[in-house]
Amino acid sequence: MGLSEFDLIDRYFARCGAERPDVELGVGDDAALLIPAAGRRLAWATDTLVAGRHFPEGADAAAVGHKALAVNLSDLAAMGAEPAWATLALTLPEAEEAWLTGFATGLCDLATEHHLALVGGDTTGGPLTVTVGVAGFVDRPLRRDGARAGDGIWVTGEVGGGGIGLEAALDRLAAGASDRAALLDRYYRPQPRVAAGRALARWASAAVDVSDGLAADLGHILAASGVGATLEPGALPLAPSAVNAAGEAATREAALAGGDDYELVVTLPPEREGAAVEALAGLGLALTRIGTIEPEPGLRGREADGRVAPLVAGGHDHFRRDP
Ligand code: ADP
Ligand code: MG
Repeated sequence: MGLSEFDLIDRYFARCGAERPDVELGVGDDAALLIPAAGRRLAWATDTLVAGRHFPEGADAAAVGHKALAVNLSDLAAMGAEPAWATLALTLPEAEEAWLTGFATGLCDLATEHHLALVGGDTTGGPLTVTVGVAGFVDRPLRRDGARAGDGIWVTGEVGGGGIGLEAALDRLAAGASDRAALLDRYYRPQPRVAAGRALARWASAAVDVSDGLAADLGHILAASGVGATLEPGALPLAPSAVNAAGEAATREAALAGGDDYELVVTLPPEREGAAVEALAGLGLALTRIGTIEPEPGLRGREADGRVAPLVAGGHDHFRRDP
């Protein structure tokens, strides 16, 4: 080993991510000193990844670093915020240099890509656990409570790849080499929809990021907004690699009740749909209409024969215990 805690911090995390003029003092003192722009609001989020629970034990270090930041950036994206600063609380079984190099590369490359500075954190010994906090500026916050009856429900990108990607990561899925590579990439290296969230903030009435399955995450919008919805499961933009490897039905189920897709679900008043679709096309990202917000509470699905029935699909809940 031979690497002290301070050497470790200095070597891997003291210069991580973008250099920003609003960071007066970053890693190294008792606390960071930051200079927020006068009058701008901050959106602030924290997420923890635990080895064996949020990623397989033995997962590639760079993927763990990437994903720990990506899931947090996805929360900022869902608020329509522009990332600025991050902190990292890292609990490690041992200070292994190869692992740390990979982890820091995964995390710091994504930070740089999003003009984010790592400004502080904490380093302790223990079972591998990564907690990242992020802060970003937001002018028009995209909240969960703004959906209204008549709004369309839209999703960015592709869904189902994260949930089926976990099956591939756990070696529970037979897939061709290129599908398998695409699925592992989808699971381990989600691309947070930061630019999309900022663009959609102009048009959307509500938003959430899809971390626990569409049904559960859309459910948060419905509960916060006091509305219900009918989804068109046949309209979901399913990830082609997942459909190839697991079939359409399993991929649809993964999209609705799996997790790890990190796309955005937004609600759009009909008169703003065109502008939103155009804005996302400019970013090279699909935006697909998958349902409608309605006054009656509850989440329904329209079946292939046109019948509408309650949609039963549970997202991931860490504290739910099935009887
Ligand atoms: P203290 O004992 O005063 O809390 P630490 O020894 O925990 O200080 O941290 C020293 C400095 O290194 C602080 O500026 C802290 O924010 C930073 N730091 C510690 N661990 C990390 C980490 N994993 N990533 C980024 N910065 C870190
Ligand atoms: Mg400390």
